Amino acid sequence: MIAPSVRHMAFERADGAPFAFLPGQFIQVHFTYADGKPTKRSYSVATVGAGDATPVQRVEVAVSYVEGGAATELLGNLKDGESVDASGPYGRFCLMDADTNKRYLLVATGTGVTPYRAMLPQLRKLMDARGVEVALVYGARNSGELLYGDEFEAFAAENPNFHFYACLSREARVHPRPHDRRGHVQVGLEELKPNAETDVAYLCGNPNMVDQAFAQLKDAGLPIPHIRREKYVSSR
Ligand SMILES: Cc1cc2nc3c(=O)[nH]c(=O)nc-3n(C[C@H](O)[C@H](O)[C@H](O)COP(=O)(O)OP(=O)(O)OC[C@H]3O[C@@H](n4cnc5c(N)ncnc54)[C@H](O)[C@@H]3O)c2cc1C
Repeated sequence: MIAPSVRHMAFERADGAPFAFLPGQFIQVHFTYADGKPTKRSYSVATVGAGDATPVQRVEVAVSYVEGGAATELLGNLKDGESVDASGPYGRFCLMDADTNKRYLLVATGTGVTPYRAMLPQLRKLMDARGVEVALVYGARNSGELLYGDEFEAFAAENPNFHFYACLSREARVHPRPHDRRGHVQVGLEELKPNAETDVAYLCGNPNMVDQAFAQLKDAGLPIPHIRREKYVSSR
Protein backbone atom coordinates (compact mmCIF):
# COMPACT_ATOMS: atom_id res chain seq x y z
CA MET A 1 0.00 0.00 0.00
CA ILE A 2 1.55 3.33 -1.05
CA ALA A 3 -1.40 5.30 0.37
CA PRO A 4 -4.32 4.19 2.58
CA SER A 5 -6.35 3.13 -0.48
CA VAL A 6 -3.77 2.63 -3.24
CA ARG A 7 -1.94 -0.58 -3.98
CA HIS A 8 1.30 -0.54 -5.97
CA MET A 9 1.58 -3.76 -7.98
CA ALA A 10 4.38 -5.15 -10.13
CA PHE A 11 3.78 -7.77 -12.84
CA GLU A 12 5.99 -9.71 -15.20
CA ARG A 13 4.89 -11.41 -18.40
CA ALA A 14 4.23 -15.12 -17.80
CA ASP A 15 6.57 -15.97 -20.71
CA GLY A 16 9.36 -13.93 -19.13
CA ALA A 17 9.64 -11.64 -22.16
CA PRO A 18 10.26 -7.94 -21.54
CA PHE A 19 7.47 -5.43 -22.04
CA ALA A 20 7.86 -2.52 -24.48
CA PHE A 21 5.92 0.67 -23.77
CA LEU A 22 6.22 4.42 -24.05
CA PRO A 23 5.98 6.41 -20.83
CA GLY A 24 2.38 7.63 -20.53
CA GLN A 25 0.80 4.49 -21.97
CA PHE A 26 -1.53 2.10 -20.15
CA ILE A 27 -2.39 -1.60 -20.07
CA GLN A 28 -5.78 -3.26 -19.89
CA VAL A 29 -6.59 -5.99 -17.39
CA HIS A 30 -9.11 -8.50 -18.77
CA PHE A 31 -11.45 -10.49 -16.52
CA THR A 32 -15.02 -11.69 -16.27
CA TYR A 33 -17.89 -10.68 -14.01
CA ALA A 34 -19.51 -13.34 -11.82
CA ASP A 35 -22.07 -13.96 -14.64
CA GLY A 36 -19.24 -14.79 -17.05
CA LYS A 37 -19.49 -11.57 -19.07
CA PRO A 38 -16.01 -10.40 -20.15
CA THR A 39 -14.81 -6.93 -19.22
CA LYS A 40 -11.60 -4.94 -18.87
CA ARG A 41 -10.11 -1.96 -17.00
CA SER A 42 -7.20 0.33 -17.85
CA TYR A 43 -4.15 1.09 -15.68
CA SER A 44 -1.32 3.47 -16.53
CA VAL A 45 2.15 1.97 -16.47
CA ALA A 46 4.16 3.46 -13.58
CA THR A 47 7.47 1.72 -14.35
CA VAL A 48 10.54 3.94 -14.43
CA GLY A 49 12.47 2.66 -17.43
CA ALA A 50 15.39 3.96 -19.46
CA GLY A 51 13.57 6.99 -20.83
CA ASP A 52 13.11 5.54 -24.31
CA ALA A 53 11.39 2.55 -25.89
CA THR A 54 13.77 0.02 -24.29
CA PRO A 55 11.56 -2.78 -22.93
CA VAL A 56 11.22 -3.19 -19.16
CA GLN A 57 10.95 -6.40 -17.16
CA ARG A 58 8.26 -5.19 -14.77
CA VAL A 59 4.89 -3.64 -15.46
CA GLU A 60 4.17 -1.54 -12.38
CA VAL A 61 0.75 -0.03 -11.74
CA ALA A 62 -0.93 1.86 -8.90
CA VAL A 63 -4.47 0.65 -8.27
CA SER A 64 -6.87 2.89 -6.40
CA TYR A 65 -9.62 1.35 -4.24
CA VAL A 66 -13.12 1.95 -5.66
CA GLU A 67 -16.03 0.96 -3.43
CA GLY A 68 -17.86 -2.03 -4.98
CA GLY A 69 -15.50 -2.02 -7.98
CA ALA A 70 -15.07 -5.25 -9.93
CA ALA A 71 -11.41 -4.74 -10.86
CA THR A 72 -10.77 -3.36 -7.37
CA GLU A 73 -11.92 -6.69 -5.99
CA LEU A 74 -9.84 -8.71 -8.45
CA LEU A 75 -6.60 -6.73 -8.02
CA GLY A 76 -7.12 -5.97 -4.34
CA ASN A 77 -7.35 -9.68 -3.51
CA LEU A 78 -4.55 -10.81 -5.82
CA LYS A 79 -1.78 -12.56 -3.89
CA ASP A 80 1.95 -12.57 -4.51
CA GLY A 81 2.70 -14.85 -7.47
CA GLU A 82 -0.85 -14.94 -8.87
CA SER A 83 -1.56 -13.75 -12.40
CA VAL A 84 -4.05 -11.74 -14.42
CA ASP A 85 -4.72 -11.48 -18.14
CA ALA A 86 -3.66 -8.19 -19.64
CA SER A 87 -2.97 -6.55 -22.98
CA GLY A 88 -1.20 -3.44 -24.15
CA PRO A 89 0.40 -1.03 -24.28
CA TYR A 90 -2.24 1.46 -25.43
CA GLY A 91 -2.63 5.21 -25.59
CA ARG A 92 -1.02 8.37 -26.87
CA PHE A 93 -0.68 10.31 -23.61
CA CYS A 94 3.05 10.56 -24.26
CA LEU A 95 5.69 13.25 -24.59
CA MET A 96 6.14 14.25 -28.22
CA ASP A 97 9.49 14.54 -30.00
CA ALA A 98 8.14 17.40 -32.14
CA ASP A 99 7.48 19.67 -29.13
CA THR A 100 9.62 22.80 -28.96
CA ASN A 101 7.99 24.24 -25.82
CA LYS A 102 9.99 25.82 -23.00
CA ARG A 103 7.90 24.35 -20.17
CA TYR A 104 5.76 21.32 -19.41
CA LEU A 105 2.88 21.66 -16.95
CA LEU A 106 2.09 18.14 -15.70
CA VAL A 107 -1.13 18.04 -13.72
CA ALA A 108 -2.56 15.05 -11.84
CA THR A 109 -4.81 13.84 -9.08
CA GLY A 110 -4.61 10.44 -7.40
CA THR A 111 -3.20 7.58 -9.47
CA GLY A 112 -3.18 9.99 -12.44
CA VAL A 113 0.38 10.81 -11.43
CA THR A 114 1.71 7.40 -12.51
CA PRO A 115 2.31 8.30 -16.18
CA TYR A 116 4.55 11.15 -14.99
CA ARG A 117 6.54 8.76 -12.79
CA ALA A 118 7.19 6.68 -15.91
CA MET A 119 8.16 9.84 -17.82
CA LEU A 120 10.87 10.95 -15.34
CA PRO A 121 13.90 9.55 -17.22
CA GLN A 122 12.57 10.99 -20.50
CA LEU A 123 11.98 14.36 -18.81
CA ARG A 124 15.52 14.31 -17.48
CA LYS A 125 16.80 13.86 -21.04
CA LEU A 126 14.62 16.74 -22.29
CA MET A 127 15.79 19.02 -19.48
CA ASP A 128 19.41 18.20 -20.32
CA ALA A 129 18.98 18.41 -24.09
CA ARG A 130 16.90 21.55 -24.46
CA GLY A 131 16.73 23.12 -21.02
CA VAL A 132 13.00 22.60 -20.75
CA GLU A 133 11.36 23.44 -17.40
CA VAL A 134 8.90 20.96 -15.89
CA ALA A 135 6.29 21.71 -13.23
CA LEU A 136 4.45 18.76 -11.71
CA VAL A 137 1.24 19.98 -10.07
CA TYR A 138 -0.13 17.13 -8.01
CA GLY A 139 -3.41 17.26 -6.11
CA ALA A 140 -4.30 15.10 -3.11
CA ARG A 141 -6.49 15.50 -0.06
CA ASN A 142 -3.53 15.19 2.33
CA SER A 143 0.17 14.34 2.23
CA GLY A 144 -0.51 10.64 2.99
CA GLU A 145 -2.29 10.36 -0.37
CA LEU A 146 0.58 11.77 -2.44
CA LEU A 147 1.78 8.75 -4.40
CA TYR A 148 5.53 8.57 -5.00
CA GLY A 149 5.84 12.02 -3.34
CA ASP A 150 9.31 11.24 -1.98
CA GLU A 151 10.49 10.15 -5.43
CA PHE A 152 9.26 13.36 -7.04
CA GLU A 153 10.89 15.43 -4.31
CA ALA A 154 14.20 13.59 -4.74
CA PHE A 155 13.98 14.06 -8.52
CA ALA A 156 13.35 17.80 -8.02
CA ALA A 157 16.36 18.03 -5.70
CA GLU A 158 18.57 16.43 -8.37
CA ASN A 159 17.13 18.34 -11.32
CA PRO A 160 16.88 22.12 -10.84
CA ASN A 161 14.54 22.47 -13.84
CA PHE A 162 11.98 20.12 -12.27
CA HIS A 163 9.51 21.70 -9.85
CA PHE A 164 7.12 19.71 -7.72
CA TYR A 165 3.97 21.28 -6.24
CA ALA A 166 1.90 19.23 -3.80
CA CYS A 167 -1.58 20.78 -3.72
CA LEU A 168 -3.25 19.57 -0.53
CA SER A 169 -6.99 20.26 -0.56
CA ARG A 170 -8.17 19.00 2.84
CA GLU A 171 -5.27 18.96 5.26
CA ALA A 172 -1.90 20.70 5.35
CA ARG A 173 1.22 18.80 6.38
CA VAL A 174 2.12 19.09 10.06
CA HIS A 175 5.37 20.67 8.91
CA PRO A 176 4.51 22.20 5.51
CA ARG A 177 7.25 22.02 2.89
CA PRO A 178 8.23 24.85 0.55
CA HIS A 179 6.59 23.14 -2.43
CA ASP A 180 3.25 22.56 -0.63
CA ARG A 181 0.22 24.55 -1.68
CA ARG A 182 -3.24 24.64 -0.06
CA GLY A 183 -6.18 23.84 -2.33
CA HIS A 184 -6.82 22.02 -5.60
CA VAL A 185 -4.45 21.79 -8.56
CA GLN A 186 -6.13 24.86 -10.04
CA VAL A 187 -4.42 26.91 -7.30
CA GLY A 188 -0.99 25.57 -8.28
CA LEU A 189 -1.72 26.15 -11.97
CA GLU A 190 -2.84 29.73 -11.36
CA GLU A 191 0.43 30.48 -9.55
CA LEU A 192 2.42 29.11 -12.50
CA LYS A 193 0.72 31.58 -14.88
CA PRO A 194 0.14 29.27 -17.85
CA ASN A 195 1.54 30.83 -21.00
CA ALA A 196 0.54 29.96 -24.56
CA GLU A 197 3.99 30.93 -25.87
CA THR A 198 5.95 28.56 -23.67
CA ASP A 199 3.74 25.79 -22.29
CA VAL A 200 2.51 22.33 -23.17
CA ALA A 201 0.22 20.81 -20.53
CA TYR A 202 -0.67 17.23 -19.62
CA LEU A 203 -3.73 16.50 -17.46
CA CYS A 204 -4.37 13.08 -15.98
CA GLY A 205 -6.75 11.51 -13.49
CA ASN A 206 -10.15 12.47 -12.15
CA PRO A 207 -12.40 13.55 -15.09
CA ASN A 208 -13.76 16.62 -13.24
CA MET A 209 -10.25 17.85 -12.50
CA VAL A 210 -9.23 17.26 -16.12
CA ASP A 211 -12.24 19.27 -17.39
CA GLN A 212 -11.66 22.15 -14.97
CA ALA A 213 -7.92 22.38 -15.59
CA PHE A 214 -8.58 22.15 -19.35
CA ALA A 215 -10.97 25.13 -19.14
CA GLN A 216 -8.45 27.09 -17.05
CA LEU A 217 -5.63 26.46 -19.56
CA LYS A 218 -7.85 27.24 -22.55
CA ASP A 219 -8.87 30.52 -20.89
CA ALA A 220 -5.18 31.26 -20.42
CA GLY A 221 -4.82 30.97 -24.20
CA LEU A 222 -3.20 27.55 -24.61
CA PRO A 223 -4.14 25.99 -27.95
CA ILE A 224 -6.07 22.71 -27.60
CA PRO A 225 -3.29 20.55 -29.17
CA HIS A 226 -1.05 21.79 -26.36
CA ILE A 227 -3.43 20.51 -23.66
CA ARG A 228 -3.18 16.70 -23.59
CA ARG A 229 -5.66 14.74 -21.52
CA GLU A 230 -6.13 11.28 -20.03
CA LYS A 231 -9.38 10.81 -18.09
CA TYR A 232 -9.63 7.90 -15.70
CA VAL A 233 -13.19 6.93 -16.58
CA SER A 234 -14.45 3.45 -15.80
CA SER A 235 -14.58 1.45 -19.04
CA ARG A 236 -17.41 -1.04 -18.69
C1 LIG B 1 -6.68 5.34 -19.69
C2 LIG B 1 -7.05 4.99 -18.27
C3 LIG B 1 -6.04 4.77 -17.35
C4 LIG B 1 -6.36 4.44 -16.03
N1 LIG B 1 -5.35 4.26 -15.14
C5 LIG B 1 -5.64 3.95 -13.86
C6 LIG B 1 -4.59 3.75 -12.89
O1 LIG B 1 -3.39 3.86 -13.20
N2 LIG B 1 -4.95 3.44 -11.62
C7 LIG B 1 -6.27 3.31 -11.23
O2 LIG B 1 -6.52 3.03 -10.05
N3 LIG B 1 -7.27 3.48 -12.12
C8 LIG B 1 -6.99 3.79 -13.42
N4 LIG B 1 -8.01 3.95 -14.32
C9 LIG B 1 -9.39 3.65 -13.87
C10 LIG B 1 -9.58 2.12 -13.91
O3 LIG B 1 -9.53 1.68 -15.27
C11 LIG B 1 -10.92 1.65 -13.34
O4 LIG B 1 -11.95 2.41 -13.88
C12 LIG B 1 -10.97 1.76 -11.83
O5 LIG B 1 -9.94 0.95 -11.27
C13 LIG B 1 -12.31 1.27 -11.28
O6 LIG B 1 -12.56 -0.03 -11.75
P1 LIG B 1 -13.43 -1.06 -10.87
O7 LIG B 1 -13.72 -2.22 -11.75
O8 LIG B 1 -12.78 -1.31 -9.55
O9 LIG B 1 -14.77 -0.26 -10.58
P2 LIG B 1 -16.15 -0.42 -11.43
O10 LIG B 1 -16.73 -1.78 -11.18
O11 LIG B 1 -15.88 -0.03 -12.85
O12 LIG B 1 -17.01 0.73 -10.74
C14 LIG B 1 -17.66 0.55 -9.46
C15 LIG B 1 -18.45 1.80 -9.12
O13 LIG B 1 -17.56 2.88 -8.83
C16 LIG B 1 -17.71 3.97 -9.74
N5 LIG B 1 -16.35 4.38 -10.07
C17 LIG B 1 -15.54 3.85 -11.03
N6 LIG B 1 -14.33 4.45 -11.01
C18 LIG B 1 -14.35 5.36 -10.03
C19 LIG B 1 -13.42 6.28 -9.53
N7 LIG B 1 -12.17 6.39 -10.06
N8 LIG B 1 -13.79 7.07 -8.49
C20 LIG B 1 -15.02 6.97 -7.94
N9 LIG B 1 -15.97 6.11 -8.40
C21 LIG B 1 -15.66 5.32 -9.42
C22 LIG B 1 -18.45 3.40 -10.93
O14 LIG B 1 -19.21 4.40 -11.58
C23 LIG B 1 -19.32 2.34 -10.27
O15 LIG B 1 -20.47 2.91 -9.72
C24 LIG B 1 -7.73 4.32 -15.63
C25 LIG B 1 -8.74 4.53 -16.59
C26 LIG B 1 -8.41 4.87 -17.88
C27 LIG B 1 -9.51 5.10 -18.87
